Amino acid sequence: MAMADITVLCMNAGDKETSYADNSVLQKTILLKTRPILQHTIRDMLSKLLPVTCIKVADLGCASGPITFFTISQIIDTITGICQHAHCKSPEFQVFLNDLPRNDFNTVFRSVPAFCARLKEEKGDMMGSCFISGIPGSFYERLFPSGSLHFVHSSYGVHWLSKIPGRVENNKGNIYMAKSSPPSVLKAYSDQFQKDFSNFLRLRSEEIICGGRMVLTMVGRSIANPTSKDCCCLWELLTKSLFDLVAEGLIEESDVDSFNMPCYNPCQEEVLEIVEKEGSFDLDKLEKFGVNWDPEDDVCNKNFVFNKYKSGQNVANCIRAITEPLLASHFGETIIHNLFTRYAQHVAEHLSIEKTKFVNIVISMTRKQLATPDALAD
Ligand code: SAH
Repeated sequence: MAMADITVLCMNAGDKETSYADNSVLQKTILLKTRPILQHTIRDMLSKLLPVTCIKVADLGCASGPITFFTISQIIDTITGICQHAHCKSPEFQVFLNDLPRNDFNTVFRSVPAFCARLKEEKGDMMGSCFISGIPGSFYERLFPSGSLHFVHSSYGVHWLSKIPGRVENNKGNIYMAKSSPPSVLKAYSDQFQKDFSNFLRLRSEEIICGGRMVLTMVGRSIANPTSKDCCCLWELLTKSLFDLVAEGLIEESDVDSFNMPCYNPCQEEVLEIVEKEGSFDLDKLEKFGVNWDPEDDVCNKNFVFNKYKSGQNVANCIRAITEPLLASHFGETIIHNLFTRYAQHVAEHLSIEKTKFVNIVISMTRKQLATPDALAD
């Protein structure tokens, strides 16, 4: 079978049990933990921007479900809160929700009227009108006119690559970077990220006004070694689950060999180096923080009692919601339930021995000033 097809990448649609909408506790935890940086960035931006008639905001990789609206709520809340405090009129909002064309935009669009009605009810006259639109397309292409955005946000988006790296055909027995991957595979992954992230920054630099801001959160890794446990272990357990199915004759070993995940977990130094080298943005802040694979296992969750099977299931649900379309297009839909049942068990066993964390990297950046005037002078 051919290499995994990146064009099928999307989160599980709808609102059923296995959907992304119903399995994004991890991503919500991340948004809550990055809220202080988001608020600080917006406050600083507004101090230079106000008064402004209409503030133009984009959320890239918005997915579908409550999480999509949770993100923009955080942004709107912050802006209206600041305006209220400063006794100035809230601007109007133009919000662009972007994701790949296969994203479940139907679910997103259906929720827009209720979201806008709730904003109106909660904020009344304190808030200017809010106009929401969907932008289907890859953030590795231009999505917006030049100088047309004030603020860009993306959470858990940019660790997805634009394609499966070249030169990974010899990643036998693995579906991502692993200890047994040849050096050429590790290099192919890091080169692809470098190319993609650099391109992402260049494209956004054309779309964001000078002085505009961007906050990005991605899953990274804690150390320079690309086979570090915190980024590879989760996929190694999925590989193990795939090999359980190979042993039962349900899938072919060669299909596992030819499947590679189109994502990359950079370390802090790589992110810093790419931002600096690309040169369009000043990096104002970078923070790294860990979240347990099972996000319910959090110090803030006082009622949490560890149960390896429950945690294994939580992690499996989250990973299934993210990877099912990719896996189903390569291995066929019929194996998915079986695969994730095994996976939940392997994760449970792993968590009973050690609690591995997702290492998250959040960066706040400012589009550098140019000598030429802005397209969006307001
Ligand atoms: N921001 C949401 C969703 C994170 S999941 C949250 O915090 O929960 C990552 C999302 O990024 C997915 O919906 C995926 O389809 C999207 N994505 C991945 N690559 C993309 C690309 N090149 N362009 C646009 N969206 C992309």
